[in-house]
Amino acid sequence: MYLPFEELNEQDDTLDVCIIGSGAAGMSIAVTLARQGHQVLLCEGGDEVFSERSQDNYRGEVVGDTYIPLETSRLRYLGGSTNHWGGVSRSLDAYDFTGKTAAPETVWPIGQEALTPYLSAATELLNLDPIPADEPVASSDLNRIHFSLGTPVRVQHKYAEMLEASPHLTCCLTANLVALETENGRITSATFANYQGETHTVHARYFVLACGGIDNARLLLWCNQQYQLTFRLTPYPLTS
Ligand SMILES: Cc1cc2nc3c(=O)[nH]c(=O)nc-3n(C[C@H](O)[C@H](O)[C@H](O)COP(=O)(O)OP(=O)(O)OC[C@H]3O[C@@H](n4cnc5c(N)ncnc54)[C@H](O)[C@@H]3O)c2cc1C
Repeated sequence: MYLPFEELNEQDDTLDVCIIGSGAAGMSIAVTLARQGHQVLLCEGGDEVFSERSQDNYRGEVVGDTYIPLETSRLRYLGGSTNHWGGVSRSLDAYDFTGKTAAPETVWPIGQEALTPYLSAATELLNLDPIPADEPVASSDLNRIHFSLGTPVRVQHKYAEMLEASPHLTCCLTANLVALETENGRITSATFANYQGETHTVHARYFVLACGGIDNARLLLWCNQQYQLTFRLTPYPLTS
């Protein structure tokens, strides 16, 4: 069911997971956990449909290599960038997880085998066609690879009924994450703001940040900065 932003602070301690962002990642996790009977709150910063007031938050300067503008390459509303993705898919190769010579820090903290058990669930969630195995090309080091080219799923439509009626899944729109609060290294609550500047804080046992590759990093850096500012300010009254 949908929860108005004004009622966000009425979420009680029964909340198992608060998921922030409703794109491919956030919606998949929300639907899967709700089907298992966990109490899930899905907080989406945008509206149900495209709006300039939300999309404006995706503006940013691109430095270094040329890239498409950040505010047109992603969509910031219910369903996220799945509202315009092409649906061309295949699983990652073992090579993708390794550090590259030009940037060794790009090595992933997990290997391909960590994701393999979830491939069939992802295929079902995203309506992918079966993808044939790679085929070695004779007398070469090359492989012929295949993609799923099916109709791209729009997750907000595919899961519309669950969003409306699931007793385990609550969705709040216009809930923009602005801060994460921690205690002993664990996130204990998250604060959200709507477009009128009202804020509400949500407590949950677990939090999932699913705001897309760029904004996950931006938000974590922002929360880190807030935490360090608080940390730097508090010693003065404490030691006086
Ligand atoms: C034109 C285009 C075509 C593409 N085609 C393909 C393709 O064919 N195959 C493929 O594999 N990939 C494709 N992609 C990439 C694919 O769409 C993304 O990789 C995928 O959608 C990322 O999913 P995500 O859940 O990580 O992020 P998103 O889908 O971007 O979702 C992030 C969500 O977080 C929300 N959010 C952001 N900030 C906040 C905040 N502060 N508080 C609360 N919520 C917030 C957003 O509103 C959004 O709903 C394409 C991308 C584009 C732009």
